[in-house]
Amino acid sequence: MLDEKNLERDGMTRREMMARTAWAGLGVAAGLAGAGGIDKLLGASAPRVDESSPRIFGVSVEVLPPIDDHYPIVPTWKTEMRQLAPNVYAYQQEGGTGKINAGISNAGLFVGENSMIAFDGLGYPIQTKAFIAESKKVSGGKPFSELIDSHHHGDHVAGNQFFVPTPILSHPYCRDEVVKAAPKTPPTWPKFEGQADGTEERKLVPPNVTFEDNLVYYVGGNKVEFRFVGPAHTWGDLVAYVPEHKILFAADLAFFHLVPYCHNAHISKWMEAMEKVMKMDVDTIVPGHGPVGGKQELNESLEYFRFLKTEVRKRYDAKMTAGAAAADLKMGRYDNWMGPERTVMNTVRLYDEFKGTLTPDIDVEGTKQAIVEYNALKSGKKAA
Ligand SMILES: [Zn+2]
Repeated sequence: MLDEKNLERDGMTRREMMARTAWAGLGVAAGLAGAGGIDKLLGASAPRVDESSPRIFGVSVEVLPPIDDHYPIVPTWKTEMRQLAPNVYAYQQEGGTGKINAGISNAGLFVGENSMIAFDGLGYPIQTKAFIAESKKVSGGKPFSELIDSHHHGDHVAGNQFFVPTPILSHPYCRDEVVKAAPKTPPTWPKFEGQADGTEERKLVPPNVTFEDNLVYYVGGNKVEFRFVGPAHTWGDLVAYVPEHKILFAADLAFFHLVPYCHNAHISKWMEAMEKVMKMDVDTIVPGHGPVGGKQELNESLEYFRFLKTEVRKRYDAKMTAGAAAADLKMGRYDNWMGPERTVMNTVRLYDEFKGTLTPDIDVEGTKQAIVEYNALKSGKKAA
């Protein structure tokens, strides 16, 4: 499971470190510039950092679109435990323009009379421990009875170890992928501010209970349905639905203000799954990434996919390579979302789908080739 490598910050390049520092500086400058000046500042000097690929392939998308203030600028949102209904909470983690954390995810919490259920274990020690501490706070110190992993990506399962000995549940595909990744996991967490202090032992703990489709809990006066909705973002996606309060914890079926991450996705089936959610009796959607929102935000992601699929198909039919197609795309407002580099990888996934070669696994070679060609074209080192 290559995504696990997303968590290895020791592989960070110097370029990334510098961009990170630049962002930190920008935060101060933006504060001084005050309201009104910020858009110009962002448009003029915002560095964009490829958060998706360098730790996966050793190659990164080098020429990223600058933030364009002709289009909406992504807001920022903070880390908080948000109560959505009696005994139902979303743990939202901060992000947005100026933050380098497109890979930082959210979790859910369902509090019962004597215990509670967590939906997703998050990805780094400091964050998972903060989520656990907040959960204890709002519940008056109740223990966890279950942890349910929405899917196998590292930012959702790497924190499993901090829930042991709580039973961990998932779809079988998710468990299989975590089992495959476990032996390749390094023995310690690299020290990184806000994520790990460098002292924790690291152990990737696979789910030990699996279920194929739906599982229903009656907890804290609520019916909570865990539903299998894959293949979509991965072949093992689960969501949590609280019908009485019209709340859906969509996990990585939903990315709000971020370009969806598609390395293990079936984009067309993901779109169908989103269309089903649009028809559900739902008012509040907790995305896997981004702030708590609703159908409006989900529809924006669906529109991104519709636009991307149409534009990529034209270039596929014109026999362009995936890298050339990605370099030729004009994504407009979507380029202001977090993680714009993902569009290159998402183009590769669509090509694999059109060619009939799509598998649940990441297309390492195809993606690498596309990134190299995209960089060459965008930097003018290769003629279009
Ligand atoms: Zn994911």
